[in-house]
Amino acid sequence: MRLGVLGGGQLGRMLALAGYPLGLTFRFFDTVSDACAGQVGDLVTGSFDDPQAVSDFAEGLDVITYEWENVPVDAVRLLAERVPVFPPPEALEVAQDRLAEKHFFQQLGIPTPAFEAIDSLDALQGAVQRLGLPAVLKTRREGYDGKGQRIIRAAGEIEPGWEDLGNRGPLILEQFVSFEREVSIIAARGRDGDCAFYPLVQNTHTSGILSRSVAPAPDVRNGLQRTAEDYGRSVVERLAYAGVLAIEFFVSEGRLLANELAPRVHNSGHWTIEGAETSQFENHVRAVAGLPLGSTAMRGQAAVLNLIGATPDGSDVLAIPNAHLHLYGKSPRPGRKLGHVTVRSDGAGEVEAAVEQVQALIRAQGGSSL
Ligand code: AMP
Repeated sequence: MRLGVLGGGQLGRMLALAGYPLGLTFRFFDTVSDACAGQVGDLVTGSFDDPQAVSDFAEGLDVITYEWENVPVDAVRLLAERVPVFPPPEALEVAQDRLAEKHFFQQLGIPTPAFEAIDSLDALQGAVQRLGLPAVLKTRREGYDGKGQRIIRAAGEIEPGWEDLGNRGPLILEQFVSFEREVSIIAARGRDGDCAFYPLVQNTHTSGILSRSVAPAPDVRNGLQRTAEDYGRSVVERLAYAGVLAIEFFVSEGRLLANELAPRVHNSGHWTIEGAETSQFENHVRAVAGLPLGSTAMRGQAAVLNLIGATPDGSDVLAIPNAHLHLYGKSPRPGRKLGHVTVRSDGAGEVEAAVEQVQALIRAQGGSSL
């Protein structure tokens, strides 16, 4: 079976690495010729707006998926007329607009931070009155890793906030949540409707970028896992989904508030490569190819540290017991995700000790750290 992947970054690369043992082959579409998935599969480059380039990419493929959620929905719909596309384009549509996403959660009865749509300075001032401060002003589209957003803490920051983001398309204002922690759940749904969930993971962000995930999230009450799975199930069922999907939550006063969903494999699921019976990448590939899902059971405890902007010496990382190195084949740039290290062990103490050692190497190298 020949799989096409829209987007050729590290997520696509890890999809291919998981899919080859199943006998699948991979072709990627990206706008840049040095997209790192090109090192492990065919890479077609072009603009998503170029129907000829997109059509050339689709030639001979059996199924198409995506690893980047800002793929233009029109291009995906065009492709879906020729080749089955999973997850369905509707999932992209919802995830690309923070306002649509929040409405979608609301329709399913999934709690979110309070929010309002913002299309003028007046609207922003009114929304601040109603939601209170601090609040977070975000672009509705194309924001990721903390980009396209700013916190408004005082009345004097309303106008500068509008001046900064008001010319970048429609906005959304969200109540600032003083969360106890951030967690995410990864759901998988097969083409036959079978669902599976990984355990809730606790995430730490540095400068808006995910820097660390711990699996399972420590001290999670059974009820929280069940609630997250219920939310996950209603999302994937409403979307008639096939593939892996992540939902990020704030935990506030012990409750889950949905922040956003990603209709793709997710950074907070990288631990599953070594830490689960079937990785998120393999389960995504299985799902979109119409194969049965694999077990999501954990193999011990795991933590992932992202390598952002710089990478430590590989042999130093590999000298740490229980540490596994994943480099994405990307050239270093500040703020760029270049790889990750997974630590996996049966004992939580061993994971913590190894995380400390990896953290020290990352700091010494000048990479982003906690
Ligand atoms: P996002 O791009 O929406 O995922 O935001 C990136 C990070 O900014 C989140 O993971 C949070 O750490 C923080 N953040 C975003 N929205 C809020 C909010 N409404 N309240 C508090 N922190 C937030």
